[in-house]
Amino acid sequence: MAARSPLLPAAISACPPAIPAPRSQTLEKGLLAQHNRWRRRMVTHLLEHPGLFPLVGQSTGGVPARVRRLITRETDRQQALTRVLQETYTERDLGNHSDPLDELIYIMISRRTREGAYQDVFRRLQTRFPDWGEMAGAEAREIHAITGTAGMGVQRAADLGQTMRLIGNQFGRYSLDDLQDWTDDRVEGFLTTLPGVGPKTAYCVLMYSLGRAAFPVDTHNLRVLARAGVFHEAGLDLTHLDHKRGQAVLADLIAPELRHSLHVSLVLHGRDVCQPRPRCGGCAVNHLCDFYRARQTQVNRTSSLPT
Ligand code: SF4
Repeated sequence: MAARSPLLPAAISACPPAIPAPRSQTLEKGLLAQHNRWRRRMVTHLLEHPGLFPLVGQSTGGVPARVRRLITRETDRQQALTRVLQETYTERDLGNHSDPLDELIYIMISRRTREGAYQDVFRRLQTRFPDWGEMAGAEAREIHAITGTAGMGVQRAADLGQTMRLIGNQFGRYSLDDLQDWTDDRVEGFLTTLPGVGPKTAYCVLMYSLGRAAFPVDTHNLRVLARAGVFHEAGLDLTHLDHKRGQAVLADLIAPELRHSLHVSLVLHGRDVCQPRPRCGGCAVNHLCDFYRARQTQVNRTSSLPT
């Protein structure tokens, strides 16, 4: 476990959201059942991973009923974060696609590339290969003639061509529509066998195109969640994780019914406000943020020192 950031206090009591959060009981029946299954998984997960959640034993004595109450407070906090950010970011289109093969290609070319540049590459690929199957027969240099304009290496072009060939072999056509009938685990397992496709890309396809309760983690939403302090009462510290490890840790930690909305909001918030140098003063969720609270405490302490 990485060392705890000195900015984060060892334990912070749950902070009631400034705006009352809707309780999980207001969810419609299917979502409520999904939410309750998640809560049960979380009780076991928190109790079985003391390395990730070092304060669970201290604050709950390992008693499941107390862990359940901790999860209720965490859920309230996640709901408040989701709601305030949803009200803040009303323009929520990140350009994602409802067709799973479109989404796969879109996320493959988005990696470590500027938003405007990969969106332009996607449009040009669609124009050059109106049927994605044509990319399966194309040489890497033909694909790279387009992707290279956004600074992507030849390997990414080769991965796109090879991915298309593997999809053709698997399904007998250039489509991922059959994934609709697969379980989440099977989809993730298959997609991550494709070259250049990692768990985050697979989770994007699951969430954006297949409507599953997946939670893709990128540098933006990991940064915001690490600072805001998800599961802080359990002692979870995300501050030193890279996004791959963050994806593994966070995959199931957000309440399922909040994942899509919160993912989109956090990407927008990480890009606009909670940047590497955060603009906390104008942040709509600073009342829910551990980083902000710790910083304010430091400022107050410093200003109260005798001069
Ligand atoms: S208060 Fe600051 S650190 Fe916290 S979420 Fe907002 S911008 Fe990020």
